Amino acid sequence: MAIILDGKALAAQVKREVAEQVATSGLVPGLAVIIVGENSASRIYVNAKKKDCEACGIASFEFALDADAGEAKLLELIAELNARDDVHGILVQLPLPAGYSEQAVIQAISPKKDVDAFHFENVGKITTGDFIFLPCTPAGVMEILEHYGIDPAGKHCVVVGRSNIVGKPQALLLLHKHATVTICHSRTPDLGAITRQADILVAAVGKAGLITADMVKPDAVVIDVAINRMDDGKICGDVDYDAVAEVASHITPVPGGIGPMTRAVLLRNTLKATQL
Ligand code: NDP
Repeated sequence: MAIILDGKALAAQVKREVAEQVATSGLVPGLAVIIVGENSASRIYVNAKKKDCEACGIASFEFALDADAGEAKLLELIAELNARDDVHGILVQLPLPAGYSEQAVIQAISPKKDVDAFHFENVGKITTGDFIFLPCTPAGVMEILEHYGIDPAGKHCVVVGRSNIVGKPQALLLLHKHATVTICHSRTPDLGAITRQADILVAAVGKAGLITADMVKPDAVVIDVAINRMDDGKICGDVDYDAVAEVASHITPVPGGIGPMTRAVLLRNTLKATQL
């Protein structure tokens, strides 16, 4: 039976560390969260981020715009927040409603306040390894690996998913840690033939049940990034958890794995932005 990589417990530890650092620094970090339109999942995430901030002594400022507010209004708000001294991090909750260019919006955020690390300047820095901020989800994965003494160096890591916010930066961070990395996506034929080679397998797709036990090498480390909402309201990842836990050496649960780590890294990034 696999060892469970407890993201919830580690995230609580990171949060305590951030709270201590905020208290001793004398700084009041400020995080602005912008939500556009009504999206129940986004609302849950935004509320959770506000709660996390409160627990750590970080001031949170929420800006809720109607879906039809328009991109010009959103860009104007971002420009105001870029100029505010009490706002150190700016986060626009994605996805945006139709009619907004996510790329234009992200690029409007000052790179120094881009705590999601999605701005081109930060993406470039992540590519070369000279980063200020790391994107929250892939950084959360790296932190959980490190905490459990799992060193990617020399390992074959397979990342399933190639999005700009998870798959691609995840592959880069593993590469920086000297792994041999393969990235799979929807056009990859015979996915199982590749995932079975993985010493560390990261699933970041968004399809419940995609990764079955026969696709996992015995004693592999399995990281499930996905959050899939089922019809009964429960959430699960991409990995067929119970069966894969019989094969893997380590596994992250969903919920309680990478989700809480992502939120914890956001707090750390906000503190870092304040210290800048
Ligand atoms: P995207 O939809 O942007 O990307 C999904 C990726 O999966 C794409 O690269 C796609 O390939 C690939 N894919 C789709 N179907 C298959 C398939 N059958 N086989 C192999 N690859 C496939 O999603 P995100 O990267 O934004 O998110 C991925 C998951 O992670 C989601 O469940 C999301 O909810 C979750 N997530 C969790 C976070 C957390 O805090 N834990 C944070 C962010 C995301 P292609 O490029 O060819 O289309």
